[in-house]
Amino acid sequence: MSPIVQRTVRTTCPYCGVGCGVLATVTDAGVAIQGDPDHPANFGRLCSKGSALGETLSLDSRLLHPEIGGIRASWDEALDTVAGRFRETIERHGPDSVAFYVSGQLLTEDYYVANKLMKGFIGSANIDTNSRLCMSSTVAGHKRAFGEDLVPGCYEDLERADLVVLVGSNTAWCHPVLFQRLLAARRADPKRRIVCIDPRRTATAESADLHLAIRPGSDVLLFNGLLHYLRHNDRLDFDFIERHTEGYAAALGTARETAPTLPAVAAGCGLAESDVAQFYRLFAATERTVTLWSQGVNQSTSGTDKVNAILNAHLATGRIGKPGAGPFSLTGQPNAMGGREVGGLANQLAAHLDLDDPRHRRQVQAFWRSPRIADRPGHLAVDLFRAIGEGKIRAVWIMATNPAVSLPDANAVRSALSACPFVVVSDCERDTDLARFAHVQLPALAWGEKDGTVTNSERRISRQRAFLGAPGEARPDWWIIAEVARRMGFGAAFGYRSPAEIFAEHVALSGIAGAEKRRFDLSGLQTAYDDLTPTQWPVNAGHPQGTPRLAFDGGSGKLKFVAVRPRLPVNAPDADYPLILNTGRIRDQWHTMTRTGKTPRLTAHIPEPFAEIHPADGERLALADGALARLDSRYGSALARVRFSAGQRPGTVFVPMHWSEGNSRQGLANALVNPAVDPVSGEPEFKHTPVRVAPY
Ligand code: SF4
Repeated sequence: MSPIVQRTVRTTCPYCGVGCGVLATVTDAGVAIQGDPDHPANFGRLCSKGSALGETLSLDSRLLHPEIGGIRASWDEALDTVAGRFRETIERHGPDSVAFYVSGQLLTEDYYVANKLMKGFIGSANIDTNSRLCMSSTVAGHKRAFGEDLVPGCYEDLERADLVVLVGSNTAWCHPVLFQRLLAARRADPKRRIVCIDPRRTATAESADLHLAIRPGSDVLLFNGLLHYLRHNDRLDFDFIERHTEGYAAALGTARETAPTLPAVAAGCGLAESDVAQFYRLFAATERTVTLWSQGVNQSTSGTDKVNAILNAHLATGRIGKPGAGPFSLTGQPNAMGGREVGGLANQLAAHLDLDDPRHRRQVQAFWRSPRIADRPGHLAVDLFRAIGEGKIRAVWIMATNPAVSLPDANAVRSALSACPFVVVSDCERDTDLARFAHVQLPALAWGEKDGTVTNSERRISRQRAFLGAPGEARPDWWIIAEVARRMGFGAAFGYRSPAEIFAEHVALSGIAGAEKRRFDLSGLQTAYDDLTPTQWPVNAGHPQGTPRLAFDGGSGKLKFVAVRPRLPVNAPDADYPLILNTGRIRDQWHTMTRTGKTPRLTAHIPEPFAEIHPADGERLALADGALARLDSRYGSALARVRFSAGQRPGTVFVPMHWSEGNSRQGLANALVNPAVDPVSGEPEFKHTPVRVAPY
């Protein structure tokens, strides 16, 4: 007998930044998941993770009641404890002695309320997010070049481009549906080309027409060389440069100086001259070029410079904001961009307004009617946990993320948390690696149970909608934060009754940003919250239906070239730690596996942590393919199963970032990773830690 359908709900996948639309059909036999054929991100497609969402909804392992000290408590007791301890800590040690560490998994409404409480009512900017680990180098690069954190293009550009350059992005595994769209476009027109720039021969590189297995960290050199080449071969758009940009001469001068010849670039990047030349020729000759990048660019101590080196090449050719042409950052998380919109980073304000601009601060404070407003940046993620370890931050509230697994130098993060006088964790899961450090645990609603919005990599805002009831005593994150705010004495500003009310406030605040000639503007949004269809901002009087591409017509100030110099990664390999560790995702797991680890279908793909190494390195180190190996860095150790792969660049080893002590014996990759960060963005250098590998 077929299952009885109760209802079908239109929602959005909670995993990657592609932001695919999902139809969730609740039946008496469970929840059936399909791609939403009408959603413009995926047109009905789903990847392995998205299509298995229905298998991840069990309540096993869920946190269903508040707990204080590991003992079940009432909501009143838990919320009073959190509010009381935060208030006391602020009274005794000042507002900068407390912090929130939040997440690109939060919905925009949750993020908005958390940011408002910390910056406007507590009066500190100590709210940072795991998006710092993901795309903050891109945010910083965008701000330097565009004056605002803007992704100029849209997914359709990938299908209209004649050349797509993928830099530091295993799109095939990490953003699978977008990669399927890209491959389908090439099948439709085989003249289209894909270039992949990545030290590893990933699944993405396998599908590319040209793979440049670049030396880790040498991207700025490659793109400075490209700028020099384009000028030398007279392929620049001087009309665009003249009318819309500034800083060209300095950027070109630095490119010429640092990337003087093609052989010098090829040697510095560890590439064959012929491959570099082929890439440069293709780029020079192809007007409709999209350069897309992801964490291989961002997660670097020169991540911001890498972003600007890419942007320089697009500004110099005028290939920006045009159909099939532009630079494109792919965000990792489902709502990394939504968090950016509400200012959920320690160096942002809200609605793309600037923390360091007194007028912007006054505007936001007046809008919030708040007693104070943070007036200087707070601690950025890595630094925030260091400040906890040093006793500067004495109360921290961690929401929807697990820094005990996902931050670099994870053992130091754990030590810091164990010494912190007060740790609050709001999460869906009960027994995470983080939970053992929590003084109070607050049960949050999970995907399928909560309502709100997310923004994907192409600025498209979509609804997540509930199709399941709230289990146990779990509550929406926005409600939990607002209740704590109320108990801290800020009730008048946090009396929200629904996410729709919070979103309406966010929209209204964006109108101020729009008046400031910020592109981020939702003031023209007319649709009722419940009926909101996927829409790309800005949405205003000029673009009431949203905006697929941002045109750069000089109306919002000149675009800026940034002169960038190649820099080596901070920690170089040496005799003790001779290999370079690179970490990343695998196809069928998400973050710390709390959801994807629940389904055998997904765990069957790769069931345990592995260390991928070139066979020549493996044999030299007496490793056996398939045997266990121990990896050591200056920061910690981990075990993984050896995989020989000729696609691994000699001298490097790749380990996935998903496993932790909670789901494997000793597979915590981030115990190994160095905590060096980009000096501009604060993003950690996950892709370059010196390690040694030995048989276990
Ligand atoms: Fe979800 Fe990303 Fe897969 Fe789409 S591509 S179904 S958003 S994980």
